[in-house]
Amino acid sequence: MAQSANKKKVLVIGGGFGGVFAAKALERQGRGKLDVELVNANNYFVFQPLLPEVAAASIHSADAVVPLRQLLRRLQVRQAEVMGIDFTKKTVTVVQGARRVPVDLPYDELVIALGTGVDLKRFPGLPEHALTMKDLADAHRLRTHVIGCLEAADVTRDADVKKQLLGFVTVGAGFSGVETVAETRELVSHALKYYPNIHPDEVRFYLIEYADRILPTFPAELAEYATERLEKSGIEVITGIGTKSATGTAVELTDGREIPTSTIVATIGNGPHSLVEALGLDLHWGRIKTDRFMQVPGFDGVWALGDAALIPLVDEPGEDPAHYAPQTAQFAVREGRQLAGNIVARIGGKDPKPFAYTSRGSLASLGMSKAVADVYGIKLSGTLAWLLWRGFYLSFLPGFAAKLRVGVTWLLNSVMPPNIVQIQSAPPSSRYIHYRKGDKVFEPGMLIDGFYTVIKGSYRLTIDNPETGEHFEKAFGPGEHFGERVLVRSALRTGLVVALEDGILLFIAQKDFTRFARAFPVLEEYFKEYIERTFGGADKAFAPGSTDRKSELETLP
Ligand SMILES: Cc1cc2nc3c(=O)[nH]c(=O)nc-3n(C[C@H](O)[C@H](O)[C@H](O)COP(=O)(O)OP(=O)(O)OC[C@H]3O[C@@H](n4cnc5c(N)ncnc54)[C@H](O)[C@@H]3O)c2cc1C
Repeated sequence: MAQSANKKKVLVIGGGFGGVFAAKALERQGRGKLDVELVNANNYFVFQPLLPEVAAASIHSADAVVPLRQLLRRLQVRQAEVMGIDFTKKTVTVVQGARRVPVDLPYDELVIALGTGVDLKRFPGLPEHALTMKDLADAHRLRTHVIGCLEAADVTRDADVKKQLLGFVTVGAGFSGVETVAETRELVSHALKYYPNIHPDEVRFYLIEYADRILPTFPAELAEYATERLEKSGIEVITGIGTKSATGTAVELTDGREIPTSTIVATIGNGPHSLVEALGLDLHWGRIKTDRFMQVPGFDGVWALGDAALIPLVDEPGEDPAHYAPQTAQFAVREGRQLAGNIVARIGGKDPKPFAYTSRGSLASLGMSKAVADVYGIKLSGTLAWLLWRGFYLSFLPGFAAKLRVGVTWLLNSVMPPNIVQIQSAPPSSRYIHYRKGDKVFEPGMLIDGFYTVIKGSYRLTIDNPETGEHFEKAFGPGEHFGERVLVRSALRTGLVVALEDGILLFIAQKDFTRFARAFPVLEEYFKEYIERTFGGADKAFAPGSTDRKSELETLP
């Protein structure tokens, strides 16, 4: 889209609470002066506080998200993945579109709102076996997994396997952990009547928290109430004990206890976003250090907010976490509005304002129509708090259509049975692709995404180095392969592959291919030799501008 000549280009990367509310306020406050564009990996905004409800099938997954194009109608919205930022050239590199070609987007002002990642590396086995609770896919996966456990437990004759399938463990008892365990327990208890071979006493729920109490951001008496409520509903609350390691069949706790389980939900381990970590910015506690105005010191026109940013609330914050904005939706929304005002002020030659906001309180649902609320210093628990929780999140949910859908679903849920349909939606990591003569399989400049084996037909690879004039060409037939250099490089394609006749290729995604090769040394050795034999020294010469990267083989534990 063309950029208006005299308008400043503001690029917002990340379409969560921080990015969306900043973009909305920028549009309002900077109308006519700013050209605002928001880039997000998905074309929707995820209302994270409702994810546990999606996991519990209380609401449909589409009801916890709002299309960004509807939410930000007057702005440019781009569905793309941010791959890098050049702070000197003031450009953001994104990969977008059907062909996944990298594109550089220029900016005058850049707002980083990418949220956080999950880092569970400290707990052996947890990264491989735990389910996380960060986005829509996670919630959907958990729901499918829990229903799958009930299906399998209903038919198994093995008592040990049944015990594992019916042990549900949630690690971390902040509001996302508490709400997740409460909601999944509610789903299971409502669903059990359809599983005649499972007795309710066989199902066990555990909430594990390393601190000595749950809900650390709530007053102690509300945390106590919540613990009692959860225990009353059959959830074993274990505090003061952490998770040590995990396998596909059990979780080991720091006191040596082993809990048989096939379901571990980890709501702990908030770590830096992998891209944020690689940007060379000054990070503290895995978050981008900003000044009180949310500017990133030393980087012209760069701002950060939301979970990704460490925003001081006082002039000399030191090491006290209470002196920084907490990682909540409530703060991200206020930061977004304030940050927009500061960008408009900076462009207009005025002084920006330091970010200041005092929390209005917190709410957490405990399932079974109970909740705890600490709002404006008033502490509530029970059904009244639960009604407040529902009313608050309904009003907070952006967009009238989303509010209506969620409101109606909640009403229907009070009279309808839970939806226990198990829909598997993970995309296949390998697939057959049909090509017609002349079709391009890939071309220079495309992101390297996987490995190809020829099933039918023939294909020609050509690599041209415009700097040296060198030319490489090779044809492939059934049983042969190409694209194996994903093992040693994950930058951009340097070659062009064209189908010479109609045919079929088997495609295997990069991650799965490198994992498989790593686990199978004979295969890895074969490919290394093949690359050397086929491309030899020419490999580097034929890769102008590409960055060799440590292969996954070297970087994995
Ligand atoms: C289960 C759960 C329940 C919660 N409940 C509450 C609650 O009750 N109250 C409360 O105040 N807070 C709650 N929170 C916390 C709150 O949701 C977060 O603090 C808030 O979402 C942070 O907003 P953000 O914009 O910084 O990040 P996010 O909302 O995480 O948004 C980041 C965005 O960046 C996009 N992105 C990331 N990487 C890329 C990339 N490379 N390219 C393009 N786009 C990218 C993501 O797709 C996402 O849209 C909860 C969180 C969870 C997980």
